[in-house]
Amino acid sequence: MTHISRKRTHRPALILLLSLVTASAILGVLLWPSASSLAPSFGAHSGITGEEAGAATEADGVLPDGVTVFEDEYAALANLDPTLLQAIRATATDAAHDGITFYVNSGWRSPAYQNQLLEEAIAEYDSAEEAARWVATADTSPHVSGNAIDIGDWDAWSWLSDHGADYNLCQIYLNEPWHYELRPTTDRGCPRPYPDPTYDPRMQE
Ligand SMILES: [Zn+2]
Repeated sequence: MTHISRKRTHRPALILLLSLVTASAILGVLLWPSASSLAPSFGAHSGITGEEAGAATEADGVLPDGVTVFEDEYAALANLDPTLLQAIRATATDAAHDGITFYVNSGWRSPAYQNQLLEEAIAEYDSAEEAARWVATADTSPHVSGNAIDIGDWDAWSWLSDHGADYNLCQIYLNEPWHYELRPTTDRGCPRPYPDPTYDPRMQE
């Protein structure tokens, strides 16, 4: 990994704050819960996945609670783009010096797992349109291509919001403070996040 200079800006903190306000309002969270119970809202933490016949398994990218970004035995991490995995582990190593552990809520997902999450979201919102604001299709999801990782919890989001750009790790969606992907950064940091995934041109293919 090449040397990356420290880039400091106050904008990421504002973006994180806006994200949290948006996410908490949309999810109806009145008191901020432990982040792991919030993000992501679907799949491994919904209590649904894994209990149904034919449901996605760890081989599809499902993760149990408490997995750190350093664990190799899970498909969710092993099938990530190697550059992304290297970057998130580098950030996690540095964040550990600040006493923060990076847990991973989701990484690579099989197309079947992604479709299951989408169906669960549509059922939960009773709306395909609203579900699209949170869960992509198997054809468009950067999780399926191994180019996205969902990190929990609040402490990690806060740390990544301040320092992620130093590693080219960027928040992509304002309503998903846990979702990170690699992006080219400048002295001003990461590109401006989309309000939600429906604004992402990749989701409109
Ligand atoms: Zn994500």
